[in-house]
Amino acid sequence: MTTEPLFSRDAEVIDGKAAAAVIVEEIRNAVLLEQVTPGLAVVLVGSDPASAVYVRNKANRARECGFFSRQIVLAATTSEDELLKIVSELNLDRAIHGILVQFPLPPQINSQHVIDAIDPEKDVDGFHYANAGRLAVGAAADALVPCTPLGALRLIKQACGPDLGGLHAVILGRSNIVGKQLANLLLLEHCTVSVVHSRTINPENICRQADILVAAVGVPRLVKGSWIKPGAVVIDVGINRVADDTRPGQSHLVGDVDFDEARTVAAAITPVPGGVGPMTIAMLLKNTLSVALRSRP
Ligand code: NAD
Repeated sequence: MTTEPLFSRDAEVIDGKAAAAVIVEEIRNAVLLEQVTPGLAVVLVGSDPASAVYVRNKANRARECGFFSRQIVLAATTSEDELLKIVSELNLDRAIHGILVQFPLPPQINSQHVIDAIDPEKDVDGFHYANAGRLAVGAAADALVPCTPLGALRLIKQACGPDLGGLHAVILGRSNIVGKQLANLLLLEHCTVSVVHSRTINPENICRQADILVAAVGVPRLVKGSWIKPGAVVIDVGINRVADDTRPGQSHLVGDVDFDEARTVAAAITPVPGGVGPMTIAMLLKNTLSVALRSRP
């Protein structure tokens, strides 16, 4: 089904790269001004190519901002005990303010055990129960908040303005990493929040009521133009690699939203790539800087 254009002009494309560059510049300036050296340790287990790229990008960006950056690459056969020992050493290392273990982990390692082992005060990914709990009870100022939801919120405010009170936000996806955390953040911003997931009946009807529609499901181009309320702000968190129809044997990245359809209906939309993705790294650096500033004598 094709969607008739409902707006006379295309949606504003929200430039996540530009927004992230502003934040990274602020962080670089703060490092110089405050004379701190935030330390970020990124741990990769195995050789998954996508994870290796993420880890390298995070470490490089940290270095560019004047951080002390430690990359630890472990064999795919690493045991849970070996990884937990490294985490506990990093917990005690005073030069390290942020610890990030790249997921997914190999099957012999229980991810939750690893999350539990990270010192909550160095948990710059914000996945530890202590941080998730603080956010859930409204103590966001005391929490390290997960980077992707934090980045998505920044882009939402850029598009909607600082006051989100009363807006209806619909989030597709209820993962602990993105969907649930963003729901909690938007509740703190006084939005009316609906969470749509794989068992929701008639998701498109709920999505069509959204002033702010966030897709974080991992299903390529799931959200069609007909799911979107005219004038809504659409934030596409999804990163999906799909075959490229125009170049046989090649692939490219798409989001969870059908961008070409959505941009004729929405007021503003994030692209994939170049939307939420760059914001995630910027927020990781921001979280690490805030731990470093907090832990100064
Ligand atoms: P996940 O697999 O942990 O969770 C997916 C969620 O989507 C689940 O809650 C499930 O109930 C829901 N879901 C699945 N199919 C659905 C459907 N048909 N309709 C409605 N809901 C459905 O995924 P995740 O870790 O939250 O990641 C989601 C997407 O975001 C993935 O594409 C991932 O690559 C991407 N992601 C991007 C960034 C970034 O930096 N931009 C960071 C994290 C995740």
